[in-house]
Amino acid sequence: VIRCRAAVAWAPGKPLSVEEVEVAPPKAGEVRIKIVATGICHTDDHALKGSLPNVEYPVIPGHEGAGIVESIGEGVTSVKPGQKVIPLCVPQCGECSFCQNPESNFCQKSHISEPQNLLPDKTSRFSCKGKQIHHFLWVSTFAEYTVVPEYAVAKIDAAAPLDKVCLFGCGFSTGYGAAINTAKVKPGSSCAVFGLGGVGLSVVMGCKAAGASRIIAVDINKDKFAKAKELGATDCINPRELKKPIQEVLTEMTGQGVDYSFEAIGREDTMIAALASCNMSTGVCVMIGVLDSGSEISIDPMLLMTGRTWKGTVLGGSWKMRECMSQLVSSYLEKKFSPDLLITHTLPFAKVNEGFELLRAGK
Ligand code: NAD
Ligand code: ZN
Repeated sequence: VIRCRAAVAWAPGKPLSVEEVEVAPPKAGEVRIKIVATGICHTDDHALKGSLPNVEYPVIPGHEGAGIVESIGEGVTSVKPGQKVIPLCVPQCGECSFCQNPESNFCQKSHISEPQNLLPDKTSRFSCKGKQIHHFLWVSTFAEYTVVPEYAVAKIDAAAPLDKVCLFGCGFSTGYGAAINTAKVKPGSSCAVFGLGGVGLSVVMGCKAAGASRIIAVDINKDKFAKAKELGATDCINPRELKKPIQEVLTEMTGQGVDYSFEAIGREDTMIAALASCNMSTGVCVMIGVLDSGSEISIDPMLLMTGRTWKGTVLGGSWKMRECMSQLVSSYLEKKFSPDLLITHTLPFAKVNEGFELLRAGK
């Protein structure tokens, strides 16, 4: 058993509390990882608020981390102690019908089809003050050590800087993959990206890499625009400064609406605006933002009748993450993209709550 620090959410609506926890050794088929760096994704904030479905408390959140294998359980063959890895919040069991389908990355062992508050044998490896603490999406990266199933671990290049590539665990892969895999953005096309956080800026990078000729970035926080432009946005719009609804403005700017629109915020109104912003015939709108559990959206069915496509994506569409992660990290090492620009602050672990304040303040 390892004693180390972890940030525990004891109940919804409370700040995290950095505690000393016990982390049990990995059982058969499991891997214990020393987490070296973790990002903060807005989905962690949903978990703190209690607005994500299927989360049980107390829980150790965090799902965008990178680390080094500390030890392995019986039967683990794909990783060894000392190797650099990224734990996967969408695993790749390799056996379910979705893993077998090249078009999907949505392993049936993902949190949405099977709650992952405990490890597959229905026990936890975390405890604190005599209480069992739940896992989060199996990865719980807000802990100095975490235990995950082998099929939720991706091996990466030993040269990878863990304080940068942790972003591949969620935000970068999600946004970049939404453009490349889910929307399949074509060269010369027009795109609109709603929300310019870590996810939305990664969508901008994906649209640019796919050869889009117009990338319109939309956010109510104008401080996000400089970075969006640096990453490839051709236009930046603040909907609060418009006299007309954003969908009307985007439609006028592009003639018929954009070819691809993306919602990376997590609000009903912007999901509908993004849908209405893509062209009525061949337009594709990708929903990435996470709505509070229990939310419902109602739309005019005519929006879809004429041919628009509305789809969602989790962790970047059809990556097979155990294999694709090492390729993504190698491309990063070859400088094919620069998610480093997404890193605004680097804080010591004890200041994790300050990190959430910066996220909520749009910084
Ligand atoms: P973030 O908080 O860093 O960014 C959100 C951005 O949206 C901010 O820049 C904010 O100013 C902007 N915004 C807020 N309200 C707006 C409005 N009304 N109009 C325009 N812009 C607005 O968040 P993030 O970490 O980038 O995550 C974005 C969303 O994606 C969250 O809902 C998160 O839960 C979700 N997410 C989904 C997946 C997935 O796999 N589908 C993965 C990661 C994150
Ligand atoms: Zn995330």
